[in-house]
Amino acid sequence: MYDVRVLQYLSAMPYNTFMASVILETIPVGPFQSNVFILGDEETGKAVVIDPGDEVSRILEILKRHSLALELILLTHGHIDHVSGVKELKEATGAKVFLHREDIFLYEQVPTQASFFGITANDLVKIDTYLEDGMEIGEGDLRCRVIHTPGHTPGSVSFYFPFGIVFTGDTLFRWGVGRTDLWGSSHEELMASIKERLFQLDNKTKVYPGHGPETTIGAEKRNNPYVKNVGSGVMSITLDPMNEEN
Ligand SMILES: [Zn+2]
Ligand SMILES: [Zn+2]
Repeated sequence: MYDVRVLQYLSAMPYNTFMASVILETIPVGPFQSNVFILGDEETGKAVVIDPGDEVSRILEILKRHSLALELILLTHGHIDHVSGVKELKEATGAKVFLHREDIFLYEQVPTQASFFGITANDLVKIDTYLEDGMEIGEGDLRCRVIHTPGHTPGSVSFYFPFGIVFTGDTLFRWGVGRTDLWGSSHEELMASIKERLFQLDNKTKVYPGHGPETTIGAEKRNNPYVKNVGSGVMSITLDPMNEEN
């Protein structure tokens, strides 16, 4: 049903203004206030949900309010605060679940993550498709490109929608970057992902992070202190993505 193909060589997609027919709702959920994104195409009635971390009833209510049928559940990475609602949402909608292969070990360790953070783990459900760099997923206005952005986790990805939005998970925040003191993290890889992948996008591209407010690629190039000082040897701090002030 879904046309998933891997493109070997992707030319830069053009920047367009926000599509009039695309609905985007953001809800911060759960103890870490992780952002859940609900994207809907008003013309086709189809929807994509990114990182259903918790509070699935609220997600279902939004889908119902817009008369949207959920087709895809896209996961930026395998941390508990981004995946806890996957099973309930999949069972309620029949949507397919996508995660990068290199974060499967984290996904399978959700009970360990739960005890580390002192929270309760929900049951998991099988991943339907492994994400790969350059893969294109979805239909019409909701078609997006997968950008592998490792560092915060080995299998962290960003989802780029050619109408000018990128969902960066816990890789890039407004004025912050993802923490790299967790399982399989790498600060060097994180910085390379931001500078060599995300910062190649148009400056006007809107950035929707996994926690906290939105920003743009251009604003982060100018203002993000963790990225500006890369290479100077001055900054070695990582931010706690669970802290909203980041
Ligand atoms: Zn995370
Ligand atoms: Zn997170």
